[in-house]
Amino acid sequence: MSQGRIIKALAGFYYVEDDHQIIQCRARGKFRKDEIKPLVGDFVEYEVEGDNDGYVMNVLPRHNCLVRPPICNVDQALIVSSCKEPDFSSILLDKFLLVIEHLGIEPIIIISKMDLDEDESVKQYVKDYRQAGYRVYEISSKDNHGLEELKTVFKDKVSVITGQSGVGKSSFLNALDINLKLETNEISKSLGRGKHTTRHVELLKMYGGYLGDTPGFSSLELEMTPEELAVAYHDFAQFSHECKFRGCLHDSEPNCGVKKAVEDGKISKERYEHYLMNLQDVKKKEERKYG
Ligand code: GDP
Ligand code: ZN
Repeated sequence: MSQGRIIKALAGFYYVEDDHQIIQCRARGKFRKDEIKPLVGDFVEYEVEGDNDGYVMNVLPRHNCLVRPPICNVDQALIVSSCKEPDFSSILLDKFLLVIEHLGIEPIIIISKMDLDEDESVKQYVKDYRQAGYRVYEISSKDNHGLEELKTVFKDKVSVITGQSGVGKSSFLNALDINLKLETNEISKSLGRGKHTTRHVELLKMYGGYLGDTPGFSSLELEMTPEELAVAYHDFAQFSHECKFRGCLHDSEPNCGVKKAVEDGKISKERYEHYLMNLQDVKKKEERKYG
């Protein structure tokens, strides 16, 4: 059996890419009974029938799956945050980072509209996030700043782009000068306009990699335990081995390596304060859940 990757799903067909060939496949009947349904991004085993037709036989294990749009095995998410209009919010960015990393997707931070950063108010944030180990790109779609460099991040990866509305995601994609049709809602004609929409999911070729549709996270709620949250701040890890208590949440515990790192300026104070806010948040949720 051959192996390939589903790059498009439309009207009951799966388009499987294998070594630059596209094979139009249907799913074998067994998928109707099974819980697991092939999705875009899946690595699959397929059987060829005829020239370019075939059947998806088996879905290989997934690394992750987005729900809306349904795309699996996403490698990285470009999180776009503008420095102005809307104002930069590190609280919001941290939530995106936590939710995305929790899905096992690598985040890449893009600070957009840098032409508006006259007072250089985001410079310190850029430093802090880099110090915390994140890849940060500063761009302006208005004067094409930083775009060339960004083209290289897509190679050999499946990427998605996310961020608050109005931060310049579409402008950025347009400035990259590609013909993207990101919103494709095809109305099924046989059922009449508006009655039924079939979602067409597709990975688009993008500078040597693939770009998925913009994911909408139904919420940026942190669905994790306090312990998971502490681990999710992976830049804290290099200091937490100095914490006196195992499972230290770096809050009111004495002899905490993370709090010391904040005092020594090795972790930004603001990043730590936002961590505490998120910690309160997930603690409250735990209490509500378990009483
Ligand atoms: P989206 O909702 O994230 O897709 O954001 P859009 O791409 O629609 O952009 C929202 C607004 O920001 C539009 O009015 C754009 O013209 C503006 N905008 C986007 N990129 C830039 C930029 O680099 N500099 C400036 N000054 N404005 C921008
Ligand atoms: Zn600690």
